[in-house]
Amino acid sequence: MTDTYVYAFADAAEVPRELLGGKGAGLADMTRLGLPVPDGFTITTAACVHAMHSGGDWPDGLAAQIDSALAALEQRCGRRLGDDAAPLLVSVRSGAAVSMPGMMETILNLGLNDAAAHALAEETGDARFAYDSYRRLLQMFGEVVAGVGAHVFEHALTRRKAEQGVKLDTGLSGDDLRGLCTEFKRLYAEGSGTEFPQDPREQLRLAISAVFRSWGAPRAHVYRRANDISDDLGTAANICQMVFGNRGEGSGTGVCFSRDPATGEHVLYGEFLQNAQGEDVVAGIRTPEPIERMRELLPGAYEELVATVERLEKHHREVQDIEFTVEQGRLYMLQTRTAKRTAQAALKIVREFVAEGVITPDEAVLRIDPAQLDQLLHPRLDASVEAEPIARGLGASPGAAVGAAVFDADTAAARGAAGEAVVLVRWETTPDDIHGLIQAQGVVTSHGGMTSHAAVVARGMGKPCVAGVESAQIDEAARTLTVGDVVVREGDMITIDGAAGTLMLGALPLVAAELGEDFAAIAAWADERRRLRVRANADTPEDARRARELGAEGIGLCRTEHMFMAAERLPVVREMILATQDAKREAALAQLLPMQQSDFEAIFAAMAGLPVTVRLLDPPLHEFLPDRTALAVELAQTEPSPERARLERLADRVRQLSEQNPMLGTRGCRLALLHPGIYAMQVRAIVRGALAAAGRGEAAQIEIMIPLVAYAEELRRMRELVEEVIAEELESAGRELEISIGTMIELPRAALRAAEIAEYADFFSFGTNDLTQTTLGFSRDDAESAFLATYLEAGVIERNPFASIDMDGVGELVRIGAERGRAARPGLKLGICGEHGGDPASVAFFHGAGLDYVSCSPFRVPIARLAAARAALGATGERR
Ligand code: PEP
Ligand code: MG
Repeated sequence: MTDTYVYAFADAAEVPRELLGGKGAGLADMTRLGLPVPDGFTITTAACVHAMHSGGDWPDGLAAQIDSALAALEQRCGRRLGDDAAPLLVSVRSGAAVSMPGMMETILNLGLNDAAAHALAEETGDARFAYDSYRRLLQMFGEVVAGVGAHVFEHALTRRKAEQGVKLDTGLSGDDLRGLCTEFKRLYAEGSGTEFPQDPREQLRLAISAVFRSWGAPRAHVYRRANDISDDLGTAANICQMVFGNRGEGSGTGVCFSRDPATGEHVLYGEFLQNAQGEDVVAGIRTPEPIERMRELLPGAYEELVATVERLEKHHREVQDIEFTVEQGRLYMLQTRTAKRTAQAALKIVREFVAEGVITPDEAVLRIDPAQLDQLLHPRLDASVEAEPIARGLGASPGAAVGAAVFDADTAAARGAAGEAVVLVRWETTPDDIHGLIQAQGVVTSHGGMTSHAAVVARGMGKPCVAGVESAQIDEAARTLTVGDVVVREGDMITIDGAAGTLMLGALPLVAAELGEDFAAIAAWADERRRLRVRANADTPEDARRARELGAEGIGLCRTEHMFMAAERLPVVREMILATQDAKREAALAQLLPMQQSDFEAIFAAMAGLPVTVRLLDPPLHEFLPDRTALAVELAQTEPSPERARLERLADRVRQLSEQNPMLGTRGCRLALLHPGIYAMQVRAIVRGALAAAGRGEAAQIEIMIPLVAYAEELRRMRELVEEVIAEELESAGRELEISIGTMIELPRAALRAAEIAEYADFFSFGTNDLTQTTLGFSRDDAESAFLATYLEAGVIERNPFASIDMDGVGELVRIGAERGRAARPGLKLGICGEHGGDPASVAFFHGAGLDYVSCSPFRVPIARLAAARAALGATGERR
């Protein structure tokens, strides 16, 4: 028995979404609800996956199943594919299980050939409509199946419009369009070396294969990587009877959302184009009109649309993104799916859903994508600075962006990846621009509406977008944007405000965003549900304060090295390092002590009442000394003198301290075993700072952490040193203070020997940055620029292990470390303070591993709070 790959919409209600794809599932569902959906069938993702693995070959039985589904469809519609009296026309649309708007292919009006186009003209008495549909098929089929460039057809269309003196394609007559079809067939043959297939079944077969292939298109890959979607899912193909929005004034097509996807406001939001087919809206070929216009133009269909949209939202309990067509006054629903929206909109919407009793607070927490919260912290324009727009368009995705104007996606991708802030400026974006959009701060288009490609994708990515700036002339070849007599050239700085829809010259000042009430409400639900505590990595009082405002429950990692880097301290630090006599070293350390003490005091005060983990010095000493090459140059230019002698001593010392692999060198506790005075001074500063803050009623819970421990013996010695200094300080102050002492677990040996190490540790904090580096043998400084990008692109690994924990390898060591540590010392406090502490998938993993807290950079604290709550509600960090 062969598998079933084909389901009629009416029979597919129970088929899993993974097989039907989002579009197929939506169509099946709407059919079951009795909504006006054109008839058709879905070919499952399993067929695509099979084709993907067998060089494009279809699985056994698929062709026969399509034949019989088509025969049944023809029967139900009373029309036949390629018939010369009543031809059936269909659309062939892609649709993956996880929505990837615009990334894969669609072909409309399939089934037309010379005879069927003639029959359609006769049957409808409307040659304009019949040949408009045919030229669209030739164009789309030519592009998608035969690989003929879109511009070839677009130029011919533009030429014909110019010859006829009309502005819009709707101005062309039936005769014009028939002539254009002849020209398009010629262009097709010239461009592809084959004739356009007149056999509609051949068209169907080729179109389905092209849809399957489009799963593997470069832009689809880029989109999946950016959105953490697996490459293995495949797309479904939906074969659907055509309904025609291009049948005159009583027809049209549109896209709408049940709530505003930019702000979350509960209003019908969308766009509509009279006498057009769907592609015209999405591709931004004609700028559509706001959906309210439809109320005037087609009142009956509008009322029905409003009621249907509400019904679909209620049914799915989720904001819907809907495509529809009106054919001669009759409404048809073509698609419904969960709407992509900004983080701000997502929060407002789920909060209102809870208030309306549509979903529970648990569901609300699960509905928010934690990674998306990043957007809320995107800066906006400083309202106190007057912004003078040079042009206005549609505020298509909120937030402000500043960057150098660039005019094509490749440039945006290259300059953006090199670390430059760029704003992508296009006539209209296409799915092929996705790599540039990812690297740009924002996007401006002179064309297209709120539901155009640029707007939809920018909202999904949380990038500011201003669309449809009609007054701007964009010349990609000259690399200019012109508004009146203002010319913006490539590289000129511009600022856009994606809420107001404005474009300004220069780099305007931005201010940090606020999280707002909707976030506060959802974060409160999240906090009630999570088990993991969330701390921040902060090493200045400002960072500590910001972290606290964002909900941090303490500091999980205060790195002390920046305190050594401050300009006025560096000379003293150098003296300490260069000293050859103990007395000199002691003197330098004594000078550093009060400086460190005041740093700690301010940080403890900012975190009063909460735990603060201070990590003693970690990096190799030579990092505090001048660069070797610079020093050599300086020496070469200096005449013999006492200054030259000093420089020579310095150069010698730098040479002595330099290591081939400093990251594997004299760092962390190794440094302190050689120079215990440094840690002793730091501990003194910590105790004095803590006593001073406590004296003002601002006591924090102090935890002292030893870095880069591999052997229990290292920690035993360090603990002894730290305890001695604490005792001395407390005794001389005549005060008492609880200070716990623990260690980072950031080397594989430490994780494996956690039981012995736990004997000397009150807590463990997993340093997953170094643990990743040392487990994989990937240099944290070089791997990302060297080979990791290739690894990710080629699919050797799915995620960057420095950003998202390698669950099977590094994660295993975390689990082992946690288990062995706790077995030896029940109640041992466990945390993690590597970059992974702010990555939602990793947070879910740490929840599962039984850790007590995660610590991440202040701006990721809101993300970690939500991710921790989702983990407690059962969300896993596994890829979709
Ligand atoms: C770590 O290694 O994960 C860590 C937090 O320490 P650092 O990044 O300072 O080496
Ligand atoms: Mg480390």
